[in-house]
Amino acid sequence: MPHAFPDPRTLLVEPVLTWFDEARRPLPWRSDDATPWGILVSEFMCQQTQVDRVIPRWHSWLDRWPSPADLAQADVADAIRMWDRLGYPRRAKWLHESAVIIRDEHEGQIPTSTEELRALPGVGEYTAAAVQAFAFDMPAVVLDTNVRRVISRTLNGEAQPRSHVTNAEREQAATLLEHTRPAEWSAAVMEFGALVCKAAQPLCAECPVARMCRWRAAGFPPPAFQVRRQAAFAGSDRQARGRIMELLRSAQEPIPSSAIESAWHDDEQVTRALVGLVKDALVEQTALGDYRLKGSR
Ligand code: SF4
Repeated sequence: MPHAFPDPRTLLVEPVLTWFDEARRPLPWRSDDATPWGILVSEFMCQQTQVDRVIPRWHSWLDRWPSPADLAQADVADAIRMWDRLGYPRRAKWLHESAVIIRDEHEGQIPTSTEELRALPGVGEYTAAAVQAFAFDMPAVVLDTNVRRVISRTLNGEAQPRSHVTNAEREQAATLLEHTRPAEWSAAVMEFGALVCKAAQPLCAECPVARMCRWRAAGFPPPAFQVRRQAAFAGSDRQARGRIMELLRSAQEPIPSSAIESAWHDDEQVTRALVGLVKDALVEQTALGDYRLKGSR
């Protein structure tokens, strides 16, 4: 159960903000000239990919499509190609679909309301709040895995948050927002979770809030519930999907199914992966039965 917290400003917020002033990484989407579109693109790209891998792709993406309207008029296949090896290419398709909606329904401007943001494909509770906070300086409750872990450990004395966001967590996060500049705090606590209060091997010896951390005070008890771990990548359906996407991204022409099957060692798995990619509308079959990226011309 979450506990009441006596003085968030003194005990948690101010030390983390002070730490952030010194330790913040100069991420390009945090610069003063980052546009709301650039921030939305960064949020899509960072959802399941490490920041270091995102940065060069983010630059090339915005060089090519500096506004939603620019992306909206491109083929979705180009967006999937440009996504390259960031993984989970559905995000490229969703970003393209979002760009079309932004151009057609919002006069090319990123919407600001929760309802309109959540109506964009691929935009969930976290991404909508992040765009509101970082692009528009709105007091949105930004709860990514890093923020949730910091709250869970410092305030609740638990190693990890639950698998789903609870209302109690939202209330705790909202209370912290009342004590600071919302966007700055959200960026700071996300960074703190990514660099100091890490999931594995947190840097407690150099932590500015170690003295008030309830998880540390309790002797670092293990999670009270099972933490779901991601299955190994090697040999997985995800890897098979990645291999097929790699083939199709680099192909100038549609590829016969036999060429796709020969690129993977497990026939059943490659068939399953291909069916999944078609179902996810990332890949399509031509009239001749060959395969290509969705929306290729
Ligand atoms: S003391 Fe350790 S677990 Fe607690 S907030 Fe700091 S880094 Fe995280």
